[in-house]
Amino acid sequence: MTSILIVEDETRISSFIEKGLSAAGYSPTVVANGLDALDYVATGSFDLVLLDVGLPGIDGFEVLARLRAAGETMPIIMLTARTSVDDTVAGLDGGANDYLPKPFKFDELVARIRLRLRESGQQRVVETVLRHGDVALDLKTRRVSVGDRSIDLSAREFALAEEFLRHPDQVLSREQLLSRVWGFDFDPGSNVVDVYVRYLRGKIGAERIETVRGMGYRLV
Ligand code: CA
Repeated sequence: MTSILIVEDETRISSFIEKGLSAAGYSPTVVANGLDALDYVATGSFDLVLLDVGLPGIDGFEVLARLRAAGETMPIIMLTARTSVDDTVAGLDGGANDYLPKPFKFDELVARIRLRLRESGQQRVVETVLRHGDVALDLKTRRVSVGDRSIDLSAREFALAEEFLRHPDQVLSREQLLSRVWGFDFDPGSNVVDVYVRYLRGKIGAERIETVRGMGYRLV
């Protein structure tokens, strides 16, 4: 099983990631500061590190520098609340493989993890086109088609469509869709899921997404 070390001091975020990664079939471990991260990585039991920049004690950049200086070659994805170009450049120059600004949606995180693991040769290539019936969604080109018709989706609509196509014929609750597509930056009472399901129906055909009363939505 692929082991992932999560280095994040905000428990709200680390538990969100930990739960999601467990559900996705990974083996996650959480540490809340940089020195612990160095000790854990030194055990040699992790395939990938998710490293927050803002940490107590030594920060994520320092952890990154020390890991690379120690010859550690596993993929390292930096997480940060800061979205400045300087931080991105510093992270990538410092030997990070990728960089994900917070807040992010869980699917985006998993996509990055898969990609980085694949590059590091630890996972086989995965299919990039998701299909169900006559709906096709290309994760690489971000193109969507229904039959011969090409459809324009916004980034959020695309993420929602992706979630449905990954779980065809399954009922997905509003809470599941909210946490998987919108991440932790949304109020659970929000009706944003219903609004976006309506947009998506308007584009791919209303009959393709069924409302299951009191439970959620299903791609049929
Ligand atoms: Ca932090």
